[in-house]
Amino acid sequence: MASKCPKCDKTVYFAEKVTSLGKDWHRPCLRCERCSKTLTAGSHAEHDGQPYCHKPCYAVLFGPKGVNTGGVGSYIYEKEPGAVTEP
Ligand SMILES: [Zn+2]
Ligand SMILES: [Zn+2]
Repeated sequence: MASKCPKCDKTVYFAEKVTSLGKDWHRPCLRCERCSKTLTAGSHAEHDGQPYCHKPCYAVLFGPKGVNTGGVGSYIYEKEPGAVTEP
């Protein structure tokens, strides 16, 4: 019995099948929802049934806040008390 690809909703035949997240996908359909990178079954992240690569996409989209999201210069400069120059 052939299953349907959750991505394109077409039948997945054995030769082109990869199984991940408990579903059968076409090999090229198992891609990160954010960056469209092709993923390896069983070694990618998942959110709401959609596949994502662990890094950077899942971490950027759903990772804990405050983690370095890849941007350089995200340091927080604390203002000295009494040294506030803004109005
Ligand atoms: Zn597909
Ligand atoms: Zn990605």
